[in-house]
Amino acid sequence: MTATHSTRMLILGSGPAGLSAAIYGARAGLAPIVVQGMQPGGQLTITTDVENYPGFKDVIQGPWLMEQMQAQAEHVGAQMMYDQIVDIDLSERPFRLKGDSGTLYVADTLVICTGAQAKWLGVPGEEHLQGKGVSACATCDGFFYRGKKVVVIGGGNTAVEEALYLTNHSHDVTLIHRRDSLRAEKILQARLHAHPNIKVLWNKAVDQFVGGGTPEGLVGVDLIDTVTGEKSHVTTDGGFVAIGHHPATELFEGKLPLDEGYIVVEKGTTRTAIPGVFAAGDVTDKIYRQAVTAAGMGCMAALDVEKFLAEQDFEELVEA
Ligand code: NDP
Repeated sequence: MTATHSTRMLILGSGPAGLSAAIYGARAGLAPIVVQGMQPGGQLTITTDVENYPGFKDVIQGPWLMEQMQAQAEHVGAQMMYDQIVDIDLSERPFRLKGDSGTLYVADTLVICTGAQAKWLGVPGEEHLQGKGVSACATCDGFFYRGKKVVVIGGGNTAVEEALYLTNHSHDVTLIHRRDSLRAEKILQARLHAHPNIKVLWNKAVDQFVGGGTPEGLVGVDLIDTVTGEKSHVTTDGGFVAIGHHPATELFEGKLPLDEGYIVVEKGTTRTAIPGVFAAGDVTDKIYRQAVTAAGMGCMAALDVEKFLAEQDFEELVEA
């Protein structure tokens, strides 16, 4: 027999956005259910050192932070489901969602916090050296490269912003781009080119990330010229891959308005185009993408849910 769970607040995703929404929702008496998804805990569970989440003087570990957030959410009454949503019907309220387990979730409100994943180049050494010099987040890891050489790969806004950000720590930043022009906004390009500590290598693709030393870490990148095919090598301590992100929104295609795959929300809120459906965290944010901003948006979503349900309850009372 198919299990059915009915809830006033269903949260999809268990990263900082989903769990913060759960903490606030539970404390508002909404008994939220969190469907944890493919990667319980989200992107932070594949990170090691976290130094920028407020509240901790010493370096903490990403997986530990997410364990704590989950424990806190459960402690205040949120229910965790180890399930993955495979089908979704947002055509009427309550919304009906089906899990991979066969479980049916019937929800008065839905908060989408399914996150995003960094895109990787898929070249040799990249996966092996993640956390040992290869990163997809300069804001998270740039601090560890104080006084060291770094490279950034990509030519969009993210790559240029990361290169500029890294000059706060490194005096030697190289942007590596596969073409001879950037797609980043002109103003960012102007700042990049004006910066004395950034150089750009044009028409270069990364062939592999090279590790060395004890303990092993990134020592360089092998490059290939995309026009001439010529091979070259750049020594570096840090390699930041900034070639875009994949928001996890396949389920919502054709059901909610998306912008470059990100769920569109009303400015300054977490409200989507469908009343009762909210979105928070990296699934709706292509700019900030931080654990703390995701957590903040999760809190906003829970407050938006509470307000929405209070208005619904009032309308029903008036009609009765
Ligand atoms: P983009 O998709 O804009 O750019 C990705 C870059 O990576 C491109 O230059 C692309 O090269 C390059 N790239 C993609 N795949 C590969 C590959 N396999 N090998 C080498 N290079 C590759 O992603 P962004 O993350 O920069 O931006 C995403 C969106 O978020 C954009 O709309 C952007 O404007 C927005 N954004 C806005 C910010 C702001 O307003 N402050 C900050 C950050 C992002 P090519 O150019 O050759 O295709």
